[in-house]
Amino acid sequence: MTLAELNASVRDCQQCRLASKRTQVVVGAGNPAATIMFIGEAPGFHEDKQGEPFVGAAGKLLTELLDSAGLSRNDVYIANVIKCRPPDNRNPLPDEIETCKPFLMQQIQLINPKVICTLGNFAIRTMLGKQVSITKIRGEHFEVQGFDVFPMLHPAAALHQGNFRVLLQEDFRKLKKYLDNTHLMQPKTAEQMGLFG
Ligand code: SF4
Repeated sequence: MTLAELNASVRDCQQCRLASKRTQVVVGAGNPAATIMFIGEAPGFHEDKQGEPFVGAAGKLLTELLDSAGLSRNDVYIANVIKCRPPDNRNPLPDEIETCKPFLMQQIQLINPKVICTLGNFAIRTMLGKQVSITKIRGEHFEVQGFDVFPMLHPAAALHQGNFRVLLQEDFRKLKKYLDNTHLMQPKTAEQMGLFG
């Protein structure tokens, strides 16, 4: 299956109760060959209307943070744990996460990034399969199933709490340092792009 085929198959999904209230499914956006993938929580009001992840105020902050790390939205792929907006932006429920999780896992498999940055509690809990607290493990960097995972605070939380914004900026500085040291964001060669051989 390709990413485009996966996107098409998710767009009409009716597998959980969130299908009845959404305007549209928000599958993901960005570079399908990205080295870095960001995973947020769920679409909000603006995302539900526009069909793209992180397009509201939190999205603007994410774009600024990416810029601070020398990245653009075209360099990365952005998705959420949950693909449809929970009513009134409530937290996703455990059964909704379980039902939607296979789509995220397929996205990760197809994009096959080197680095996964999780944003907020739900994304890192989904990646680890356990109830961790983002405020306790943010700033760390560890390997999960072969991916380098950077758990970060969610930009929406940073909009409301000034100290979270400082911590999130710190996390992106760490990410930049890691990318600079590992040269992960250097342009791919023609061979790596599959243009030869
Ligand atoms: S949240 Fe996920 S599982 Fe539920 S309807 Fe939307 S795409 Fe399907």
